[in-house]
Amino acid sequence: MSSSVSDAVNGGISFWYADDGLPAAREPLAGDASADVVIVGGGYTGLWTAYYLKQAVPFLRITVLEQKFCGYGASGRNGGWLYNGIAGRDRYAKLHGHEAAVRLQQAMNDTVDEVIRVVEAEGFDAGIHKGGVLEVARTPAQLARLKEFHARELAYGEKDRELYDARQTAERIRVADAVGSTWTPHGARVHPVKLVKGLAAAVEALGVTIHELTPVTEIRPKHAVTPYGTVRAPYVLRCTEGFTANLKGQHRTWLPMNSSMIATEPLTDEQWESVGWDGRETLGDMAHAYMYAQRTADGRIALGGRGVPYRFGSRTDNDGRTQPETIEALRDILVGFFPSLAGVRVEHAWSGVLGVPRDWCATVTLDRTSGLGWAGGYVGSGVATANLAARTLRDLVQIDSGQGVRTELTELPWVGHKVRKWEPEPLRWLGVHGLYAAYRAADRRESATPSAESSRAARVADRIAGRH
Ligand SMILES: Cc1cc2nc3c(=O)[nH]c(=O)nc-3n(C[C@H](O)[C@H](O)[C@H](O)COP(=O)(O)OP(=O)(O)OC[C@H]3O[C@@H](n4cnc5c(N)ncnc54)[C@H](O)[C@@H]3O)c2cc1C
Repeated sequence: MSSSVSDAVNGGISFWYADDGLPAAREPLAGDASADVVIVGGGYTGLWTAYYLKQAVPFLRITVLEQKFCGYGASGRNGGWLYNGIAGRDRYAKLHGHEAAVRLQQAMNDTVDEVIRVVEAEGFDAGIHKGGVLEVARTPAQLARLKEFHARELAYGEKDRELYDARQTAERIRVADAVGSTWTPHGARVHPVKLVKGLAAAVEALGVTIHELTPVTEIRPKHAVTPYGTVRAPYVLRCTEGFTANLKGQHRTWLPMNSSMIATEPLTDEQWESVGWDGRETLGDMAHAYMYAQRTADGRIALGGRGVPYRFGSRTDNDGRTQPETIEALRDILVGFFPSLAGVRVEHAWSGVLGVPRDWCATVTLDRTSGLGWAGGYVGSGVATANLAARTLRDLVQIDSGQGVRTELTELPWVGHKVRKWEPEPLRWLGVHGLYAAYRAADRRESATPSAESSRAARVADRIAGRH
């Protein structure tokens, strides 16, 4: 392993916790209990849902059950892109028409501002900087995809998106070999852990009960079962995303996919001078095995990408530990983007899981006969989407309990979407590993050719994955 990564902290949940401190756990459930709504999972989805429901109906008794502590999952480990992407939009356009997908996109654009609004209203610091999202192309094939992507986003109603050539891109961020980029204002950098901690505190202050260190082993209509007792409630909302496979009966619902990140030491002023990035946009690329990055509030680069994509049997987590090869691979991406940072130390590396449905479409649902609800399958775009899902779950619960009517949110095309389950093992493991090997090979091939055409291997992989 290269010297610049060999002493990196590996795991420990995430760099964000090393930076902001691990929280003291709240009291576990102490026996059978009842509530009006029980929410399983204390990430962004569960906490935002508790927040909006309690605000809408202050007398509701809401209980959140969290297996470890709020923010233990992806919500405490992500890249901090609070942005307007939502998994599955193009498929929803095919299923429900273009206009429905435009409404979904508009709702996502608004969601970025809604999160910022609430953080300001609640008065906590979440390290937010709204600098938009810059996505760069570094090969001719990536540039062709970038232009297609840019045109598609405009067609979904984004009037304020801009397309940059190589020179304009370099004026923002000096990425080696960048031949173009696209920028949208609908994105902000956040500190994921500050956001989830602030949110949990706001939810508790509203009067919601949060039990931590309380794993739910089974969800049944009107029941959330834990080793310490069962909570009964007319509504049970499953907000467990990448961990869903661990619940009884949910093994093949959403595939837990790994994503891994590194954080560098703080860069010096000269190093920032060489990189640019004054606008603090979140930064991504158009590779098939794409990367995502942010300039952190304390002057580091946090950068992520695909780790070992998936562990056999949908096993999910070991407190964020990451394979050494993945740390090296992410460092190589960093140095490929910014050769002047070749000597920069990687201080921390970690991984987390996100939930991938068989058709790669995020969903939010309340089944009115059983009172069971769920939201997730966000693939890699859940920081903002979880907020939209939560406001939608609030409206669905209110309609069902006779306290509300249909709203713009409940009519969005991702509401109530059904998808088939994943294949059993070993097909699942073979499929996902084959897929990512194909994406990596496609990126290598595209880097080595002047052709603007996307590699055939990647197109075939997309079709097999059910992404297009
Ligand atoms: C490394 C990484 C980088 C990412 N980067 C971005 C990004 O930059 N932008 C973006 O939009 N998205 C990103 N994502 C995705 C995003 O973080 C997630 O989609 C989002 O945080 C999901 O929130 P959630 O509350 O649904 O799930 P989680 O945050 O995973 O929360 C689920 C919670 O449920 C708890 N839980 C699970 N099972 C049980 C059970 N049986 N009983 C009780 N509790 C349970 C877990 O402990 C966890 O706290 C990233 C994800 C990862 C892993």
